[in-house]
Order: sequence, then C-alpha cells, then structure tokens
Amino acid sequence: MIAALTGLRGLPRMGQRSRPPHQGRDARWIAGAHRRRRIRLHNRWNENDAAATAGDLALRCYSSRLLGRDSTLVLHGGGNTSVKLREKNLVGDEEDILYVKGSGWDLASITEAGFAPVRLAHLLRLARLPVLSDLDMVNELATHATRASAPAPSVEAILHALLPYKYVDHTHADALLAITNTPDGEARIREVYGDLVVVIPYVMPGFDLARLCAQRFPAQAGPATIGMVLLNHGIFSFGATAREAYDRMIVLVSRAEAYLARHRAWDLDWPAGPAPAALPLDLARLRRTIAAAAGFPVVMARHADAKSLAFCRRADLAAIAMQGPATPDHAIRTKPWPLVGRDVAAYADAYRRYFAAQEPLATERKTMLDPAPRLVLDPELGMCAVGRSAKDAAIVAELYAHTMEVIARATALAEYRALPPKDLFDVEYWSLEQAKLKLGGKPLMFSGEIALVTGAASGIGRACVDALLARGACVAGLDLDPAIASSRQRPDFLGLECDITSESQVSVALERTIDAFGGLDMLILNAGIFPGGRRIDALDATEWRRVMQVNLDANLTLMRECHPFLKLAPGAGRVVVIGSKNVPAPGPGAAAYSAAKAALTQLARVAALEWGADGIRINLLHPNAVFDTGIWTAEVLAERARHYGMSVDEYRRNNVLRTDVRSRDVAELAAEMCGPLFAKTTGAQLPVDGGNDRVI
Ligand SMILES: [Zn+2]
Repeated sequence: MIAALTGLRGLPRMGQRSRPPHQGRDARWIAGAHRRRRIRLHNRWNENDAAATAGDLALRCYSSRLLGRDSTLVLHGGGNTSVKLREKNLVGDEEDILYVKGSGWDLASITEAGFAPVRLAHLLRLARLPVLSDLDMVNELATHATRASAPAPSVEAILHALLPYKYVDHTHADALLAITNTPDGEARIREVYGDLVVVIPYVMPGFDLARLCAQRFPAQAGPATIGMVLLNHGIFSFGATAREAYDRMIVLVSRAEAYLARHRAWDLDWPAGPAPAALPLDLARLRRTIAAAAGFPVVMARHADAKSLAFCRRADLAAIAMQGPATPDHAIRTKPWPLVGRDVAAYADAYRRYFAAQEPLATERKTMLDPAPRLVLDPELGMCAVGRSAKDAAIVAELYAHTMEVIARATALAEYRALPPKDLFDVEYWSLEQAKLKLGGKPLMFSGEIALVTGAASGIGRACVDALLARGACVAGLDLDPAIASSRQRPDFLGLECDITSESQVSVALERTIDAFGGLDMLILNAGIFPGGRRIDALDATEWRRVMQVNLDANLTLMRECHPFLKLAPGAGRVVVIGSKNVPAPGPGAAAYSAAKAALTQLARVAALEWGADGIRINLLHPNAVFDTGIWTAEVLAERARHYGMSVDEYRRNNVLRTDVRSRDVAELAAEMCGPLFAKTTGAQLPVDGGNDRVI
C-alpha cells in the first residue's frame, strides 16, 4: 500500500512561468522563514471569568471552551469533556448524571445545551457487558439521557463514566502525538510522565476502548495519577474541579512539549527554498482528475506557505507522509494517506486495494467511499486540500497543518510511526462516523463548483454572488471597490479588488481564484458602466472608448483567460453574460452603452459556437429597469419618474407585467442558467424586464 501510493514527482520543470508570490502572507512567510520558535501552550484560566461563571455545568462549559481555543489541543469537533452531577428528578429521586459533550458540538464554542445528561448508573452497568455493538450503544446512550432534546452523547460517554473523577477532559494534543507516534512511543511516554498517568495501548475508540480502560485503569491508577494517555490517540486529565482538570491538562501537555524541547524536537526548521510559482493550469488539471476519481466536483485549496512548501520539498516526504495520520479520527477527513505527487489514478488504485484488503476483516459489510485523495503533497504545488466544499477543504488543511508539525517533531525525536492500515480502516469506516458524515444531507446544486463574478460588490453582481453561494458554489467576486476583499468572511468566498480592463490584474485574480478553489466552472460577466445620457452629436471618443473598454474589451480578456479553466471544469464550463434590454431595444442617449452591449452579445454568440465542442455553454440575460442598484438612488429614481410624469412606483413597474424587477430576480435566473435546467441550452438570450413592448 505504502509503496503503491508513492509517486513522488521530479524537480520543478523548467520553462514554467514563474511569478513572485502574489499573496502578501506568502511573501512574509518566505522572507521570515527558517527557524520559528513555537510558542508553548499556556494556561488560559482566568479567575475573574471563572468567578463570574455560576454552577458546575457552566464551569464545565467555560473550561471546555478554554481547551477548544487551543488548536494544538483539539481541532474541529475533536476531544470531549464531561462533568458528573447529582440531581433531583421530577419525582424527587436523587440521580447521578454524566453531562458529556454532545456529538456535533465543538469544544471551542460549546454551551450548556451541548452537553447530554446521561444516567451514570446505567453507563457503569453497560461498561461491564462483554460486548456492545455500535448501534446498541448509541441507542442505550440516547434512551438513558434525561433530556429529550439533548444531543447524541459522545461515543466516549461510557469511558467518561468509568473514570472516578467529577471533571474529565480529553484532547488530542499535538505534542503528545509527536511522542507516542514513534517506534518506542510507550517507553518515552512513561519516561515523560512516570506515575502521573495510566498508559493504555491503542484500541478503537468507543465501547472497546471503554472496556479496556475499565480493566486497565483501576489496576494502574495510584495516588499520583492525574491523567491517562491513549497511545496514538490522545490524553485525558481529570480532577475534583473544572480548574483542577484543566490545570492538569496544561501541566501534562506542557511536560510533553518540554520533553520535545529537551530532545531538540520542538522548534522546527521550515527552510522555504525558492518562492512558489503560479501554476494555475497544473492545479486545474489536478482538480479535474481528482473530481473524476471522486465522481463529483471538488474544491481544492492550495497552501504554498513556507511550512507546507518546506514539508512537501523534504527528501523523505514519501516515507514520512505515507505513514498515516497523527490520530486516527483524522482519517475520516483526510483519508488515511495523502497523494504524494500527482498520480491520482495510482492513488485511486491503491485505495481500492486497501479497501479490498481490509473490508473482509471488518465485522459488518462496508460500502467503499470514493477513492479520490483529500490531500495532495507536491514539491511544486505545496499542500493542496480537497473537499466537497470550501469548508471541508479548510478543515483538511488545518488538520494537516498540525499533522506536518507532529510528523516533523516525531521525525526529529526518532522516527514518525502511525497506526497500521487495519486500525485506520476501522475508524475511517466506523459506522458511527460514517453516519456523522451523512448527516450533511444531499449536496447542493453547485457543491464543489467554483464561479467567478465581475462587478460583485453591488447590484446584480452582489445578488449573483448570493445566488451562487446559496446553491453551494465557491465564488470569487471581482470588483473595483477595494471593500470587496472584506465584504464577506466565509471560506467559500474570495473577494478580489480588480480592474477588469487591466489584463495583468485579471490574470492575477484568476491565479488567486485557482489557488483558493482549484479551478473555474462558471463565469458571470456582469461588470459594466452606464455613463449619463449623451446624444451622439455630443459623444466624444474618450467616453466611447472608456465604455467599450469596460463593457466589451474587458469581457473579451476575461473570456479568453478563463477559457482554459472552463474547459477543465469537471461538469463542463458555463458562462452567463449580463447584457441589457438596450440590445434588442436601444434607447436614445445611450449609444456607447447600447453598442458595447450589442457587440458583447455578438461576442458571446460566437463563443457559444466556438466553445460548444468543449461542452461550455454561454447564455445571455437582458435585464431592464433594475432599480435596486447603486446608480439608482432615491433622488435619481424620483427625478426620472417626474421626467415621465409618473409616480416612483408607476415608474418602477412601467412594464407589461406591471412588476418590479430586482437584482435578485436577475441573479436567480443567472444562477439557474448555470444549472441543469439549462443543460441543453447555449447561445440563448432571455429578457428579465417584466415584459417590454419593444422587445416582445
Ligand atoms: Zn479522542
């Protein structure tokens, strides 16, 4: 398996167009790279905050959030915490209740509602059963909760119940994993902790782990015990108070960090080497191949920061990366192994062989997941994270950013050693984890696809961004307005300040889009200018050229530059051009605007003919009288209505259907034109104008 998945490619090819890194972040990384002193974990407990927190459960939330805030302790729903409370029920009986983190909650943001109250006595009886299937365990946990609206209790609930302490904290601390994931990890852990912790060998999380701890913990625990290490998995701490359990977690993990520092395995070297080249076509080809292997479109985010590049350029990359994840539950997100190099077909073959070898050993039959990689490590590209959505890809990237550090430290300490394929398979194909992933439901129409919208900061362009995001697409929004860059804080949106009349700015915007999302599936040509009404006898060449530059020439540049990427779209490329009613029905005083939009329409029709063979569809919308845009202020609207002797409302609805046409109406149609409804349509022109008697 390991050899088969290894396909390390050679050195960077000659002749590739190389540009300086365009992202300031990258530039700083490269300049300041080399030896970075990592800041050690620190105790975040604040006695004032804690004092203001009333009640045992509230304190449980408080310290859980402190743990969740340290990404070196837990990531993306990893880890779990609990508190044992005595409560009186409605009929007056006293019961011991385990409040344990609910499945799907994140420690960083957990509230009291995120803890599931489960009857402790029943959990302790379950722990004595010789076997308990996953389905039975989930059922028992849910049916012995005391609040009907509680989330599903963590699958580690029985283990939390067994530990005889009021507060129990569990994390997957990076520093601990760097030590246990070595050939002599257990001996090292005993050296680090002595009798402070009980050490449990790796077994699958869930009931098997709870049962093993039920046997081993009482036998090993002594008066000095403050925690428990699960080899290749994580660490527990516990105490009589929230603060004691939290302090002990910090003490235990800090010991691991100090051990690494003593063995010169804490501060890491990330020699960046040459700056990363812009390789947009390579990225788009790779994304297309991965999507083909997956059977659905995917987002692929490139990370060419100094750490990722240095890791991907290591001479021992294949050997260290093909070992496996730092902790097995990462496999659900990242798959057990990354693709080293770019041979997706070889990866998919190896993944099928892994499934074929491991599935017969499982206790129940499994259905194979798609065989496409979720992580690509390539010396030229850096780290590429793959997901069905930008959020999924971001989670993969963050998990691996930590994994690179764990691997680098374990390698500096001794040698990185992860779990064998069987253990990884058990977690990757764990029925409970599979169920969690399926909770997401049916993917949205444009899930895994990428759109580029021009003029995205306002009006129809902004509404197009909304319509595409709502359908699951990632969107790059281009606009002259620099505010576009910070207009939306979400992983599936990239706002780029761009003057589309500048070929070099368009080229950089495209590179950034491909770096962020991996390709381009849809192009919405919306940006345009409408100068004030001017009759031909007063129209000078400068204004004429300016309108032509923005409304026509820039769109030629965009179409030409986007074409190679649209051609590589896994589900075929789509273009929607926002034209104008002025194309079929020009108005006096708008010569330059009408001529430019008419020429743009003709350009799009020729593109429909030329690009049809590539499967690319290009259609046009001709909106009219869309008044909820930046140029139509209340004053302008009132002035125009007065000009025609109408009220503002009459003026807005001055069309055959007497309806108000809004940006959103145009945008929704533009998005649908990229969808399956219009799969058999290209070169079409559709009015969105409430019906215009000159057009009809
Ligand atoms: Zn765990």
